[in-house]
Order: sequence, then structure tokens, then C-alpha cells
Amino acid sequence: MKNSTTQGSHGIETICVHAGVEPEPTTGAIMTPIFQTSTYVQSAPGEHKGYDYSRGGNPTRTALESSLAALEKARHGISFASGLAAVHAVAQLLNPGDHVLVCDDVYGGTGRLFRSLFAKYDIHFDFVDMRSPADLKSQFQPKTRLVWIETPTNPLLRIVDIRAVADLARAHGALTVVDNTFASPVFQQPLDMGADISLHSTTKYIGGHSDLVGGALMTNDDALAEQLRFIQFAGGAVNAPQECFILLRSIKTLALRMQRHHENACQVAEALSRQAAFSDVIFPGLESHPQHALARAQMTGYSGMVSVRLKGGFDDVKRFVSRLKIFSLAESLGGVESLVNHPETMTHASVPPEHRKKIGIDSGLLRFSVGIETAQDLVDDIRQAVK
Ligand SMILES: *Cc1c(COP(=O)(O)O)cnc(C)c1O
Repeated sequence: MKNSTTQGSHGIETICVHAGVEPEPTTGAIMTPIFQTSTYVQSAPGEHKGYDYSRGGNPTRTALESSLAALEKARHGISFASGLAAVHAVAQLLNPGDHVLVCDDVYGGTGRLFRSLFAKYDIHFDFVDMRSPADLKSQFQPKTRLVWIETPTNPLLRIVDIRAVADLARAHGALTVVDNTFASPVFQQPLDMGADISLHSTTKYIGGHSDLVGGALMTNDDALAEQLRFIQFAGGAVNAPQECFILLRSIKTLALRMQRHHENACQVAEALSRQAAFSDVIFPGLESHPQHALARAQMTGYSGMVSVRLKGGFDDVKRFVSRLKIFSLAESLGGVESLVNHPETMTHASVPPEHRKKIGIDSGLLRFSVGIETAQDLVDDIRQAVK
């Protein structure tokens, strides 16, 4: 494993606790207040203190955006009302006629947005397997403008070689976006590996407590940041000051939480791989994962997501999830509490059935978001449910 991310000489834990947050100037409050205001009084027409209307800017959001940028050592952090609003903002960089390569095991909502909202603007999306950069080469077209990576992917936890794909994209004049939601900034730094934009659903690990919906983009490219900021302002998908505050608070414990998610997931994955009830245990940290070496090279931890295939049929799946006592059956992931999800009927129900079949989302597939509870309790919970 590589060392944890540093900013200057600072480790990721220090960055999480301190970055982006300055004591409030009038009172010295150590926590950035919730600036619950829509507008700001001007001393003369056009003369203000840097804020004129909260869609354009709000001090609580400014602090959050500096903190988000710091997490990936980026020059810019731009926050949105949801992860999909962040995806939407990136898609709005495109023009009619453009072509986009999207990894085929992409988050269901991202695929839905591309297929159902953007395809009608004459923007072409090809959903392709990106596990082999050599094969990807032939998929580029003269009008390929964007390459959309997700790694690890959801729910099959495949790994895409960020550096290799970003190099290919650059050679073809296309931008690379990495949806870094599953790894979190603690375990993966896409901008360091050549990506132009890193994206997060802050609803997940960054928020970490299943109490808000949000999204973020990080980039080092000033011109790109300016366009994305304009889209944020003109489109208006900003998060409210209260949500920004909760995220600022969450970020302080992000590194701690991720470490525990990683440790628990490693233990759960090990234990499940010895259970005969599962025909497949998918976790990038297991040596049996076909891309374990790549995961080890580009991530500093494996995060908390573990997918399995339960032997039997859908009735067995239903029985299994109903017997779990600690894992709750729910969509979403990345919170402190453990969740289990059935992609075929839940998160990935909007993925066309033939596409689900092609990539391997079948009725036996279950995805665990391993929380920060006592690892042994989680292992025991799964063991009693398969009995
Ligand atoms: C949840 C998720 C999104 C969408 O984010 P929302 O906050 O739900 O809009 C995008 N990508 C990934 C990988 C996700 O898990």
C-alpha cells in the first residue's frame, strides 16, 4: 500500500480535520456557521463583500468547496445538490454531435441520465468495458469528447486503470472524468493519475451518515472550473447552507471512518469467501479479485463495498435479506450503518435488462455497504442469515 495522501507535508487525516475551514472572522467561531441567507445587503449598487445571492455563493458553501478541493489536492471544488446534479453539470459541457465513452458498469442513475435526458440532444453514449485499455483504444471516434470512468464500479466492483485510460483520452483530445464515490478521496486520488475531473456523490462516504444528498466535482483545470461554476450558477443545482454545514462536519471524520469501513470490509469479505452459500465474493482487496493488483496499485485502501452472489434463486435472496438483523435492506451506501442492496430490483432496476444480463447483474447478486460497527457482529449477522 502507498502512504496516505499528503498535502504539502500533511496527511489525509489532518486535511480532513482542518482543510478549507478558517475561524469565522467576526466572532472567531471555530466551526463555519450556517449562513442561512438568500441575499446580502450591498453598501452601494454593485458593492458587496463578495456575496450577492446564495445561488451564486454562500460562505458555508465556500468553506465546503475549499474543503472538498483540499481532499483531492485540487485547485477547485464545486458542490452540487446531489451526485447526479454533479454528473448533469459535467454532461452540460457537451455539444450536439459529441461522443462519450462510458464504462459499462456505471452507476444506474448516471446511465439513465445519459440515455434518457442527453441522448435526445444528439449526444452519443457508448457503454463499454474499460477493464482492458488496449481494447478501449478502438472505441474512440473523432468526436469523442469525454471518457467516463467509475472505479471501483457499482455493483460489480470492477477496477479501471485510471492512468492508462486518462492517457488514452488525452491522446484523443477527450476529457476524463472519474466517479470516485466508491473509493472516496481517502483511498483514491484520480487527479494525480491524470483525470481532468473527479466526481463524488457526497451522499455516500463523504457525507457518511445517511442524512443528506449532495454531489461534488474537483478539478485542477481553471478553464474547466470556470465553465462548471457557470453551470452551477446558471443551472442552480446548489446545496443549501445547512447541508454544506453537515458535510463540513462529516469531512472531519472521513479518514477515520474510511479506515474502519476498509478494515471491516476486509474482514467481512474474507469471512464470506469461506461460506458455501455464496458462489462468488467480489471485493478488490481479495487476492481472488481478477484486478486485485491494479486495485492495490491505484488505491490506498479498498473501501467498504462487498458484492456477493448467493446460490439459489430470488426466493433465497428474499429469505436471506429478511433474516439479516444488522444490515438494513436499503438503497444507497457509504454510511456508518451497514446496508444490503439487491441491485437487480433496487439500484439498477432502471438499467435495461439485456444490459444487466450482459454485465452480470443477476437475481443472485447482492451488494453490501459495510458500515463501521464491530466487524465480528457483521460477520455473525451474515452467517446466521445464510443458515
Ligand atoms: C449515488 C451515486 C451517484 C448519484 O448520487 P446522488 O447523490 O444519489 O445523486 C453517482 N455515482 C455513484 C457511484 C453513486 O453511488
